Amino acid sequence: MVSIFNDAHFIPIPQGMGFTALLIIKHHVVTITPTSERAAAVSNALLPLSENEINAIITRVMRDIGTTYQPMGRTPLEALPTMADAIPPAHLRELGVELGYGIHPTLEDAIAAANQAFRDLHDLPLSIRNKMVTAIRQTATENAVLLAQLAHSETGMGRAEDKITKNWMNANLTPGPEYLTTEAFSGDGGLTITEYAPFGVIGSIIPSTNPTSTVINNTISMVSAGNAVVFNAHPSAKRASNYTIQLLNQAIMSAGGPPNLLSACIDPTIETATQLMHHPRVRVLVVTGGAGVVSAAMKSGKRAICAGPGNPPAVVDETADLEQAGRDIVRGGSFDNNIICTTEKGTFVVDRVANDLVEAMAAHGGYVLTSWQIRRLWGIVCREDHGPGEAAYMHKEFIGQNASVLLRELGIKVGPEVRQIVAEVEPDHPLVWTEQMMPFMPVVRMPDVYSAIDLAWRSEHGYRHTAVIHSKNVDHMTHMARLMDCSIFVKNGPNFAGLGVEGEGFCSYTIASPTGEGLTTCRSFSRLRRCALKDAFRIT
Ligand code: NAD
Repeated sequence: MVSIFNDAHFIPIPQGMGFTALLIIKHHVVTITPTSERAAAVSNALLPLSENEINAIITRVMRDIGTTYQPMGRTPLEALPTMADAIPPAHLRELGVELGYGIHPTLEDAIAAANQAFRDLHDLPLSIRNKMVTAIRQTATENAVLLAQLAHSETGMGRAEDKITKNWMNANLTPGPEYLTTEAFSGDGGLTITEYAPFGVIGSIIPSTNPTSTVINNTISMVSAGNAVVFNAHPSAKRASNYTIQLLNQAIMSAGGPPNLLSACIDPTIETATQLMHHPRVRVLVVTGGAGVVSAAMKSGKRAICAGPGNPPAVVDETADLEQAGRDIVRGGSFDNNIICTTEKGTFVVDRVANDLVEAMAAHGGYVLTSWQIRRLWGIVCREDHGPGEAAYMHKEFIGQNASVLLRELGIKVGPEVRQIVAEVEPDHPLVWTEQMMPFMPVVRMPDVYSAIDLAWRSEHGYRHTAVIHSKNVDHMTHMARLMDCSIFVKNGPNFAGLGVEGEGFCSYTIASPTGEGLTTCRSFSRLRRCALKDAFRIT
């Protein structure tokens, strides 16, 4: 081992082990392969060098690490592309999905092609994997508007402008291969490293609510870990999902990656999803969707990573900044018209500050209904009401619609500034208990913060998905965080702060609460492999 500074060391490794050196800088262990550009520099570093030369090497390697470890392009939302860059609807209609670039006539063909692609990828250097992921990010970013338009026009749900943000955040904030750091243990017994290895072919089932953004997210996470993927889109969003797959395959191939690394059949159905779940050449399942698909995947007998439904509550206590809370509940709860699993779906506010909160919501795009209007609108949008305290089923045509579309049913005309309908209801109103996926926000007055948190917890149905609190009281925040025990817990912000937008951290659109992975990354789609070298190269 060559120690350079307190926190920088080189460890030479014989060529036979497949790499030249381990470079340890601070807590990062970098494996230097003989083929990489850095190898030459590092090999030289094993010879006696001047301090200046060593400094130059460290600066170069740190720059390499720095570029890959930085969160990608954390751009303010207002700087993102907008619908002003949209293509005309007539051109959009002409965009079809033909066979090719990963789209196959049958699921069997898709699985065979993905298996071949996995073998091909296995023979390629890691540097190609890095280039593939960079190209995927770039293509997804460049096409963020087009893909938003495709998703919106095909499903008729959500807001195209919010879908641009969804595509962008997944393209740029999903961690890539740099997230798979090698772990090293050294001591009298020698040197052991643990590395992240791919599973092989992953079967990924995609929801209708995020048909392009989840494909982007899963592609970056799964390909970064060295896997191939067979996607099964929701039948009602197959054009948007399959078009995304074709674009990203072209990006992969342009970076020197194999064809069909992402594969799918041209006509996905529930039957093909079931076939995928049980196919012997699919190693792992990843499902993103409602309770039905999660339960089916868990019964498949395969390793399943399941991202299921949520019913995220927002609690507001008497210490909260009510202006900020009202604004953020409207922004978060109306994001893509509430169809995202993390969006706020119920508000529980301490009675003493409820009037001020509702006023703030109205000032920031909320439209407050009277109790009579709430009853009428509920009667229109609800398809199956199972009574107080129970989840209901919504009419499909109202899911993901703008607030103005719902209000039109009441004969109320509003402008685009209205993003959410605010409905003061009793605790047992079905709106509270339903993952309604509409910008129809129930607001419940509670006597104190503890009863508000308790109701929030019960309304979440134990999904342990996402919860929000607006408070300045650390005890209240801690109590709610511990009780909810969710994959995402946001304090004093909209839900998407927990997805890396306006908050810190990376993004994922496959949030696996039932199976415990939380916000999935390339690490979730990797096998851990240990390689031990006995008695040699000990550092300590
Ligand atoms: P959905 O459950 O109807 O469909 C999701 C996918 O599963 C589709 O591809 C569908 O074809 C397939 N599918 C559905 N039932 C199946 C079954 N029995 N067997 C095999 N495949 C089946 O969900 P959706 O309406 O498309 O999406 C909305 C739901 O997904 C909401 O409940 C939302 O909370 C959830 N969701 C969760 C996350 C997360 O990260 N946890 C992300 C997005 C969406």
